[in-house]
Order: sequence, then structure tokens, then C-alpha cells
Amino acid sequence: MTDPSAAVSSDDYRQLPSIDALLQTMTEELQRWGQAPVTSALRDITAALRADIASGLKPDLSIDAIRHALNSQLAIKSQSSLTTVLNLSGTVLHTNLGRANLPEAAIEAIVKVASAPSNLEFDLETGKRGDRESHVEALICEVTGAEAATAVNNNAAAVLLVLNTLAMHKEVPVSRGELVEIGGSFRIPEVMTRAGCTLVEVGATNRTHLHDFRGAIGADTALLMKVHTSNYRVEGFTCDVEEDELAALASEHHIPFVHDLGSGNLVNFSALGLPDEPTAAQALANGADLITFSGDKLLGGPQAGLIAGRADLIAQIKRNPLKRALRLDKMTLAALAEVLKLYRDPQTLSEHLPTLRLLTRAQPAIRDQAQALLSAAQAAVLPHYDVSVTDCVSQIGSGSLPVETLPSAALQIVAQSGQDKDLRRLAEALRKLPLPVIGRLHKNALWLDLRCLEADQQSLFVDQLGSLHL
Ligand SMILES: *Cc1c(COP(=O)(O)O)cnc(C)c1O
Repeated sequence: MTDPSAAVSSDDYRQLPSIDALLQTMTEELQRWGQAPVTSALRDITAALRADIASGLKPDLSIDAIRHALNSQLAIKSQSSLTTVLNLSGTVLHTNLGRANLPEAAIEAIVKVASAPSNLEFDLETGKRGDRESHVEALICEVTGAEAATAVNNNAAAVLLVLNTLAMHKEVPVSRGELVEIGGSFRIPEVMTRAGCTLVEVGATNRTHLHDFRGAIGADTALLMKVHTSNYRVEGFTCDVEEDELAALASEHHIPFVHDLGSGNLVNFSALGLPDEPTAAQALANGADLITFSGDKLLGGPQAGLIAGRADLIAQIKRNPLKRALRLDKMTLAALAEVLKLYRDPQTLSEHLPTLRLLTRAQPAIRDQAQALLSAAQAAVLPHYDVSVTDCVSQIGSGSLPVETLPSAALQIVAQSGQDKDLRRLAEALRKLPLPVIGRLHKNALWLDLRCLEADQQSLFVDQLGSLHL
């Protein structure tokens, strides 16, 4: 057998410039990208060229070709991996797409504290050390009616911290119907274990009664807990224990009643024409000693976990050494404060808070928007695909109101071939646009639900359709 590389002469390799020689010619590139990245990229490029030569190819070994390869490689590397997208998936609070979009005031506040020193933990009155939570605690109390409050990284952290503070080495009864898995490995039983407490399962999946809880309470019971079944609903022959009954039972035994609300709604949803969802204030009024909820679900703010309720319990939570590990950074605190302030004016809330603005968009307006975009979309995908304006339903998302949907409208795209692989190819092409477009494959069509296409993004969406590569 002859070795294919035997035909390659050492001359072919000699034409390949050395790294040192290449570096001499790359003055501009060195300035632009820096010494280490350029050297490392040149090593990769020359290694690939050597491999090409070895396999009998005749690659272009000119300095210009190498310069071009270098620049495109480093340009790709310098792109941020994290980038914005158009969420036309039909799920408003999409966990994989970053959940809530922040209001303008919050973004400005982030930029401010990020770019200059601030009084984050400094009391401007006394000149002494201050408390970083002073910037949000009173606001959380204002919107929930709580005595005291604190905030951590997300609601998973809030639940962990509450359990670890109040129930370490002790028992916590929870209804079997509420042993929730939120996704991303957040499961109530596992969190209990990590928090150092013992879960006592109570009742049955579909029915749990007050006497089940009563029977589960013993000397080691630390608290009673209710968990919002955010992403599913048990229907049919069901029964669960009312909050006020659980609260009364807990109080009878001198233990706290903790309610993990999940989504953290702060306003009357029915009044906005949305499916009803109890508010944080109602949960406290119904007897919870502590509530926990997310900052970036229905609340519409930054990723955070809020804990509100009895002052003595909040004080205990703040003293837990884990608190420091879970605390919020200054940018999140700044954003959260601005978002909470918007709740002071319920009249203008859905105008200023993107989450509520998107959730409350009316179907006729979305339909009109779809109609206005129809011809541009058709032009971009013809002749292989057909587009029509079709009614659809949006989901709220993020485990908020799992079974309720919002009437919406979409550009519904079908493949002429009728084949799924062509739809997937289109979905991929849309994801490769400069501002990636995320749709939803459903029932043999690609749906672009326009509920979350804000007016100021519309021309961007249309303009880039021209560069769709099918
Ligand atoms: C979403 C949710 C969590 C987790 O909240 P994150 O803010 O995503 O960490 C915990 N409990 C319930 C009931 C939830 O719905």
C-alpha cells in the first residue's frame, strides 16, 4: 500500500510561512485582536493547512488567504454568545428566552448603578454602613402588605432559604398534590433535602384534607407549606385544603404557614381581562406567615426571589449565613426597585410594564398586525411555503397559569411539500437571522405568534426577512 501523503513533497510544507513570519505581517490584526488570540488562531490555521497538504490538497498558502481566515475566525470568536431574539413562540414568559423584558425605568437604573459607585450599602444620612435591602424592602412591603421582606437570587433560592432557616433537621408536611417539579431540576422533595429538612408527604395526589395535615403534625414539625401547582393542574375528583384552614392549623400548633406562590402576581388580573390569579397580598391576607415568589414571572421584573411576611421570621432569615450566598447584586436591586414602583400606579401599569403590556394585548390588534406583515412574510418564503394569518392561543408561560391561554393571532406557515423537515429547515433559517426569530412548530405548521412583537421591532422583523436563506 502506498501512503497517500507520500506524494506530498516537503516543498509543499516549506511554502507555508512560519508563525513568526506571519506575525511580522499581521500588524493591524495584532492591534485589533491582541497578541495571544492572533498567535493562537494562526497556530490553528497553519495546523489545518498542514493537514490539508498532508491529505494531498493544494490549499491557498498566501498571506492574504491566511489573513482572511484569521480575521473571520477571530470575528466569530469575538461575537457574544448571549444575544437578543424575537420571541414569536407564543409563550410570553419563556424561561428559555429570559422571561420578563424589563421596563425602561429599570434598564436606566441598571445602567446608572453599573457605571458608577452608589450608596448600595452606605447610609448617606449617617455616613455609616447601610443595608442593601433598604432599597427594596419597603417597596415589597408596600405591594404585598407584608410587615417585612427580603429578596434573593430567584424563587428557588427563596424556598431553599426559608426551609433551611425555619426547618433544618425538622419535618415539613406538604400535600402529595403539590410536590412540584418546576423544571431545570427544581423539585420540592429535592429542595427539602438540600435545605436539610424532612418532607412529610400528606394526603393523596388528587385529594388532601385538613385532617391529613393534622395527623402529620408532630413534635418535629417546623412549619406547614403550600406550593402553587404552577405548571399543572389536578382536575376531576380533587380536594385541597384552603389556605385559611392551613393557617389556622399552623397557628394552633404555633408553627408558621409558608406559601410558595411561584409567579408572584401583584394586581387584580380579572380587572385586566386576564385569567384570575390570586395576588401576593391575598395570600398574606389568607393567613400565610411567609410567602415566596419570583421576580421575573408575572411580576415582570428581573430574576429574583422575594420573601415577604412576618417580621420575626424575616429577621431570622436575614441572619442565615446562606443569605449572603444568595443575595442580590446591585443591578438587580436597582431594577427591582423601579419595577415595584410602577405598581404604585395601576392605571398606567400595563402601559409601562412590558410583561403586562404583552399579556393584555387584544386579539384584534394582533390580527391586524399579522395582516400588515402577511405580504412581506409571503414574499420571503415563496415558493416553497405558504403563509396565512390564523388565530392561535398564546401561553403565559413560566409556570404561571398553566392551563389558561390568551387568544392571539399568528403568521401560520406551511411547507408546500407538506414535510416536517422543510418546516424545521425554515425554523432554522429564522433562527439564523441577525435578530434570530423563534417560532413554534405545531400541527404541521410553523407559527409566528405576534403577541410579543412590539411595535418598535416590527420594521426590524420585516427588513431582515429579505436575508432569509432557505
Ligand atoms: C417558578 C417557581 C419556582 C422557581 O422560581 P425561580 O424564580 O424560577 O427560581 C418555585 N416554586 C414555584 C411554585 C414556581 O412556580
